[in-house]
Amino acid sequence: MKEMWRKDEHKPWLIAGPCSAESFEQLRETVLAVHDLGITTVRAGIWKPRTRPNNFEGVGKEALSWIQEIKQEIDVQFAIEVASSKHVDLALKNGIDIVWIGARTSVNPFSVQEIAEALQDSDIPVLIKNPINPDPDLWMGGIERLANVGLSKVGAIHRGFSAFKKTEYRNQPLWQIAIELKRSLPHIPLICDPSHIGGDRSMIFDISQKALDLRYDGLMIETHPNPPKALSDPKQQVTPGQLKDIVTNLQIRNNRIDDVFFQSKLDELRNKIDSIDHDIIENLTSRMKLIEEIGDYKEQNNVAILQIERWNEILRTRKKWSQDVGLSDDFIEDIYTLIHADSIKRQTEIFNKTKK
Ligand code: PEP
Ligand code: MN
Repeated sequence: MKEMWRKDEHKPWLIAGPCSAESFEQLRETVLAVHDLGITTVRAGIWKPRTRPNNFEGVGKEALSWIQEIKQEIDVQFAIEVASSKHVDLALKNGIDIVWIGARTSVNPFSVQEIAEALQDSDIPVLIKNPINPDPDLWMGGIERLANVGLSKVGAIHRGFSAFKKTEYRNQPLWQIAIELKRSLPHIPLICDPSHIGGDRSMIFDISQKALDLRYDGLMIETHPNPPKALSDPKQQVTPGQLKDIVTNLQIRNNRIDDVFFQSKLDELRNKIDSIDHDIIENLTSRMKLIEEIGDYKEQNNVAILQIERWNEILRTRKKWSQDVGLSDDFIEDIYTLIHADSIKRQTEIFNKTKK
């Protein structure tokens, strides 16, 4: 297994700064304030990908000289978003420390490849946001493109995924996609961007805590001296004061406790879970055997597979039984939808076999 390039695994990597660099003063004020909190990696968008034209599209390369000047005064590293080889060249020429690839760029393999090639002689850290659509392979593919040109400091930023239906989140987190990325690429630092997931500053604390509980390696939080007046993402940015409250109240859980009593209790509970899961699988197998018997019986009697009244009855009764023991309706509905879909599939196979 490859080594993680960020060695300091016990402390989350905090990245804070404005959605967009707007002026020298706004940027400097934010950097001074976050630096006072001990945060030494600053983010600032200077080219902004906007969903609709004629919105503020970033101040562009002018901000590169502000960044240089601020770096002479304050000991911080700067991260900016790049979307093309031209952005990369300007970033490298101006001493930018870290770049990230935004969610609208990581959907496009041509752009990611172009950026990877432009960066290949630099070996600065490159963070790649998840693509806006929930496609784990596309995110993974972006990471591979960066690694394949020889970049060794690649990280991933989880910023959530677009949804057709409105949800409580600006971008639904779909945590399991990020967890799967962490499982398959454990040496790639995984950073959560609660600002773009939540889309509202009131949600940042809870999303950040959840990410830390899932052992993410860091957080990127949009911070602005006067969020309501921000030229982009005004609802989701926090003031440095709010950022201080967030970071001081976050609980950093231990990865593992080297205490034999803790470990033996945990093992005992895990053994119980293993045995329950074993029973669940045995029961599912028995259930499937009955489904196949029913399939044969329906086929012999020329009765259709899908019986809507029975399906409604199953959902209704299982939800009722679950409510009585405190399980949620949604959870049971999801599980039974999967079980029912597989049952229909098995019975369809039986019908098709006997037709031949
Ligand atoms: C941003 O970081 O300000 C940004 C534009 O994010 P995303 O690419 O996640 O939409
Ligand atoms: Mn933003």
